[in-house]
Amino acid sequence: RKDIGRITTGSKALDELIGGGIETQAITEVFGEYGSGKSQLAHELVVTVQLPEDRGGLNGEAVFIDTENTFRPERVEQIANAFELNIEEVMEKIYIARAFNSSHQILMAEKVNELIQEGKDIRLVIVDSLTSHFRAEYVGRESLATRQQKLNQHLHTLQNIANTYNAAIFVTNQVQARPDAFFGSPTKAIGGHVLGHAATYRIWLKKGLAGKRIARLVDSPHLPEGECVFKITNDGIVD
Ligand code: ADP
Repeated sequence: RKDIGRITTGSKALDELIGGGIETQAITEVFGEYGSGKSQLAHELVVTVQLPEDRGGLNGEAVFIDTENTFRPERVEQIANAFELNIEEVMEKIYIARAFNSSHQILMAEKVNELIQEGKDIRLVIVDSLTSHFRAEYVGRESLATRQQKLNQHLHTLQNIANTYNAAIFVTNQVQARPDAFFGSPTKAIGGHVLGHAATYRIWLKKGLAGKRIARLVDSPHLPEGECVFKITNDGIVD
C-alpha cells in the first residue's frame, strides 16, 4: 500500500482542519449553497496538485469532470500565476471532461483508468458537481432508490481510482441554504445516506462576513469536528 499523499487547498487553516490537505486514497466532498466556494476550491486544487511535494502538491496531473460548465481556464490562469507556474504547462496537465448527463458522467469517471494507463500521472479527480445530473434526472420518491444506486456505483468507481492509483477524489454537492435541514446530520438532508457512506471527508462551506468563507468538517472518521475561515481572492484560496 502506497503512502497517502496530500494536496494543499491554498489555506493553511483549511489544510489543518482536514489533516494536512486533501488526501489521496479518499473521497472528499464539499457541500454548500450556490456561491459558497465549491468550484473555487476545485480550481485551486487542479493547480496545487501540480506543485512539488515541498510546496504542498504531488507533482501530478488532474481530471476535471465538469457537469455544469463551471470550469474556467481564466481562473486557473490567475491561480497558476499566484504560484508562479507557467500557465501553458499547467493547462496541459488538466484533462477536462464535460459530462452531459449522469450516464455520461459515470462513463467519464470510468475513462480515467484509461487515461492513467496511457501514462498520464493523474493524482486528482474533480467531479463538479457530483449530484446535479442525478438530481435532475431522477426526480420524485419512486426514483430515489435508483438514483442512490447509480450514485453509489459512480462513487465506487471513483473510490477504486483513488485506491488503485493513489489519487485524491474531490466532489462538490450543492445544497439549499436551509439551516433547519442542516442541524443534526447535514448530509441526511442532502443526498440521503449515499454520500454519507462513500465520502471519507465532508466539508460544509458557508458564506461568512466580508467575503470570507467558513468551512466545517463534519462526520470525519478520525479527525475532530471543527471550523475554519478562509478567503477567496484573485490569487485563489488563502487564509
Ligand atoms: P459554488 O459553491 O456555487 O461552486 P463558487 O466556487 O463558484 O461557488 O464561488 C463563487 C464565488 O467565489 C463568487 O460568488 C465570489 O464570491 C467568489 N469569487 C470567485 N472568483 C473570485 C475572485 N477572483 N476574487 C474573489 N472572490 C471570488
